[in-house]
Amino acid sequence: MRKSPPAEWLPLEQAVPADVFRAEVSYWAQRIGVTPREVCIRPMTRKWASCSSRGRLTFDTDLLRQPADFRREVIIHELLHLKVPNHGPLFRALLRAYLSQL
Ligand SMILES: [Zn+2]
Repeated sequence: MRKSPPAEWLPLEQAVPADVFRAEVSYWAQRIGVTPREVCIRPMTRKWASCSSRGRLTFDTDLLRQPADFRREVIIHELLHLKVPNHGPLFRALLRAYLSQL
């Protein structure tokens, strides 16, 4: 998922620990019914997250400092790519459906 527009800066102390972030990824992976082969968290320059064709998800470290709603959107977006590898109508419909669940 591409980085745009620039995210607002948040104080560092609001960051969630990587373990909490991984737990969020696991939670949504179960809800969506996918199993990422690997989940990496590392600094990325142009993207918030990416998904390899082999099922490896990479998330930008900056995501840990983003609001919960935005983290959830990026997590669901990338997990859905394990089901739908493009941004077509099916992908957008599924994304909308999962984002409307809290
Ligand atoms: Zn995407």
